[in-house]
Amino acid sequence: MFQHIVGPVFFRTSMGFDSNIILIKTDNRVVLVDTGTGMHASDIERELQSIGVTYEDVTDIVLTHSHIDHIGGVPAILKAGEPKIYLHKEEADRINSGDMTLTLASTFGAQLPPLRIDVALKEGDVLTFDDVKLHVYHTPGHSIGSICLHEKRLNLLITGDTMFPGGSFGRVDFPTGNPAALVASLKRIAELDFEIALAGHMNAITHDAKRSAMYSYEMARSMFTGPL
Ligand SMILES: [Zn+2]
Ligand SMILES: [Zn+2]
Repeated sequence: MFQHIVGPVFFRTSMGFDSNIILIKTDNRVVLVDTGTGMHASDIERELQSIGVTYEDVTDIVLTHSHIDHIGGVPAILKAGEPKIYLHKEEADRINSGDMTLTLASTFGAQLPPLRIDVALKEGDVLTFDDVKLHVYHTPGHSIGSICLHEKRLNLLITGDTMFPGGSFGRVDFPTGNPAALVASLKRIAELDFEIALAGHMNAITHDAKRSAMYSYEMARSMFTGPL
């Protein structure tokens, strides 16, 4: 189920392979950040309906990266409506040219039709959805086009699969994964100011999330940095 986090932000802690899903519901926009694998699309729509949202209402889908567990729910939503889809340029360009390898769909035996990404994101972009402003940070490492989204007024960082709770972080052994880039991205996150972190998997961190990010950075640095 979607739990209320702060202001217009709701969060679904998903089970199994599905990514978590974030709903941002403002006066005029219904934004989803990530969509799960698509295997539970009808359950998710029912859960959204219980807080007054249908797939048809979705105006924008922002993807933290293009792995199948985050992008797989997009086709079901496109059947119902016409949301704009956002993804970092590094991954958007590949998908728009028909190259779906980075999604890992075939690796995991999933079906994913070709998709059109409407907005190719880059570092420094700011997505404005009424009074919500999502600052886009390019944080490669888990994948080449992974992003984090910072809502400064709400003290909220959306971390995708870059940083997880409990000092953990995204794996770097998929195509375009890069341990050194991940350490640099985690360092950058740990230097930001935020209280709440919503990651692509596992539970929401609702207090002192910056400390958790520092812990993830330290863990990754010690794992990926060899002896001097
Ligand atoms: Zn994931
Ligand atoms: Zn991923």
